[in-house]
Amino acid sequence: MTDLPARRLLLVHAHPDDESINNGATMARYAAEGALVTLVTCTLGEEGEVIPPGLAHLAADEDDTLGAHRTGELAAAMKELGVSDHRFLGGAGRFRDSGMMGVPQNRRPGAFWNTPVDEAAPYLVEVIRSVRPQVLITYDPQGGYGHPDHIQAHRVAMRAAELAADPAFRSDLGEPYGIAKIYWNRVPRSVAEEGFARLRAANVEFPGVADIDDIPGVVGDAEVTAEIDGSGYAAQKAAAMRAHATQIAVDGPFFALSNDLGQPLFTTEYYQLARGTSGAPAGERERDLFAGTVTGVATGGPGTTGAGAATDGTDATTTQETER
Ligand SMILES: [Zn+2]
Repeated sequence: MTDLPARRLLLVHAHPDDESINNGATMARYAAEGALVTLVTCTLGEEGEVIPPGLAHLAADEDDTLGAHRTGELAAAMKELGVSDHRFLGGAGRFRDSGMMGVPQNRRPGAFWNTPVDEAAPYLVEVIRSVRPQVLITYDPQGGYGHPDHIQAHRVAMRAAELAADPAFRSDLGEPYGIAKIYWNRVPRSVAEEGFARLRAANVEFPGVADIDDIPGVVGDAEVTAEIDGSGYAAQKAAAMRAHATQIAVDGPFFALSNDLGQPLFTTEYYQLARGTSGAPAGERERDLFAGTVTGVATGGPGTTGAGAATDGTDATTTQETER
């Protein structure tokens, strides 16, 4: 534990590829700056659609081997971002991709969406208590765009943060630890609009253009509280996205998912602070997710429990209830 880097960032995502699309530049930048970047992915993405025709046989309705293939894509993407600590929640294959909202796979035994939050959260509590991150990044309560695994990843992340700080919860999973700051992935509407204007003006090969409301996490600019300039890591982010070749087609500063609809690839990434205290002056966006946190070797003392276990726990419980 004394070997942990001073700054530690934890990201919780639903499927392999979500991390590179949402946070690739942020991850590459903090990893390059010496922070510990830990990625926890909740499923293998077994239900994803496959873009390259030559790999179509991997899909769930054919060979059903997409999960293993995407595990390899994720490892390659992490190499591009310089991130060495990537894990699957509960171990690879513990929870299965639930598919899009409303499909029969939602109710399959072992599907992530079909798993009680309190059954999945302890696996993340163990990670939180061992890595002791000052900062957690996950989705907003709608999972960005309503995919059941994204909604569930949000719920599990928020619940695990609360439980990890609770001294009465499962001492076998490590010493209690309160995460100082929790962020949700966001895109300011003005940035999305500008990105789509660029896309429409450009000569790209995608058959269509996505709708702005299909972009996960788009909100009014005022709700965005932090922006991380990862423009110096644009190449790493694009390379990480390319590594997810079954899921993403990249064309310059644009990309498309399996729906073939182009969308902008952002190298400045945006966040909303959902728990903890902003390190920026009032009315300004933070430019560093660690701003205002106590960084250093985690020893388990009261000085390292961030914003305070009791306060966080209370807030999290309240929010959790209103979200359901
Ligand atoms: Zn996803």
